[in-house]
Amino acid sequence: MKREYVLRYDEIGLKGGNRRQFEEVLARQIRRVLKNLPDCKVRIITSRILLSVPESEAAEVERRLHYVAGLHSFSHAHPTDLDLEALKLAAEQALERSWKGRDHLRFRITTRRSNKKFPHRTVEVNEKVGSHLLEKHGSERLTVNLTQPEVDITLELQQERAMVYEGLESGMGGLPVGTGGRLLCLLSGGIDSPVAAYQMLRRGCEVDHIFFENRVFLGRAAYDKVHRLGQVLSRYQAKVRLHVVPFSDIQVAIRDHCSDRNRVVLYRRFMYRMAAEVAKQKGYLGLVNGECLGQVASQTLENIHAADMVADSCIYRPLISMDKVDIMRIARRIETYNISIEDAPDCCSVFMPRRPITRAKVEWLEEDEAKLDMEALVGEALEKMSVETIHWDGS
Ligand code: ATP
Ligand code: MG
Repeated sequence: MKREYVLRYDEIGLKGGNRRQFEEVLARQIRRVLKNLPDCKVRIITSRILLSVPESEAAEVERRLHYVAGLHSFSHAHPTDLDLEALKLAAEQALERSWKGRDHLRFRITTRRSNKKFPHRTVEVNEKVGSHLLEKHGSERLTVNLTQPEVDITLELQQERAMVYEGLESGMGGLPVGTGGRLLCLLSGGIDSPVAAYQMLRRGCEVDHIFFENRVFLGRAAYDKVHRLGQVLSRYQAKVRLHVVPFSDIQVAIRDHCSDRNRVVLYRRFMYRMAAEVAKQKGYLGLVNGECLGQVASQTLENIHAADMVADSCIYRPLISMDKVDIMRIARRIETYNISIEDAPDCCSVFMPRRPITRAKVEWLEEDEAKLDMEALVGEALEKMSVETIHWDGS
């Protein structure tokens, strides 16, 4: 037994001449998440994607469809002949599935006619199928409601057949990964940066990661978290690269030679310099981080500005204006939250001064950096950088 789905996109529709290309990337992403499930068929038709899967795989397919950026929504649909009587029957069946114990329903029929050869116009189909249902069930049980229906029975009249469905599940929305270019995300084990990565994935970017690690002082726990976060984020693209840069020598040099109040901003400047260098070498079009204005002492406009100016790369901060509760809601939904809240300190907490600076002055930071052998510190850390590839394990 097969189950059929109608899949919708939204913004791709606006792309005019590139539309076919966007549809193909989206179809490729759908095939990617369904890889290793047997007998799943993906087909592009006019402004829709059709999916046919074995009934036994339906629950797993629906779970995985949520990992496809660019997919606006999907519906379990029932194929029907292109014929008014068949449509009436299919609408009856859709209604049967919708009562769910209720004795009255407000309903609407919505017809979409991409097949222009079908002899009836959409309003006509709506009326004929709607009155058929009203006649059958009577107005005590059924009323037409065009603005706030409890059930919206949709009849899509395609080229070879019609698809009938009464429900719709939201997908990720956004644009398909692979349409927006590659970015490098500064991934810490915290709540924010995985959400920042997700937000850029949703806009069609491929996102790899860079993690600055102080294993000498903090052990492996933070790396372990970041690796598992990378695994969760690998749901959204074919594979994720994780760059790991040893950061302890730099932190020790900053501790030993620079003003303690400047430490956190100095750490950040080193991270940006190195991430920008890696981005340049490897062709990433920008950096992503989880900064959010005013959330913590290091994230004032002055401190963000002081760190930003050293990076020779665009920095995208998709969370900059968001509230923590909203960031946390997304983190829970994408299942990074429980990993992020595990107790493992990030390297920024190492040698934390009692009163970190909240309004860094660039001259003070530059004075501090003049006391360090910047080139050697950056060069050695990047030389020791390791890169690993995380493949989605289907979980
Ligand atoms: P997060 O929850 O993402 O850790 P945060 O609120 O704890 O954010 P900070 O610790 O100030 O904020 O970090 C701001 C941003 O800097 C992070 O979102 C992340 O992008 C980057 N960052 C911080 N520490 C690291 C690290 N060790 N490796 C890579 N990036 C980091
Ligand atoms: Mg953090």
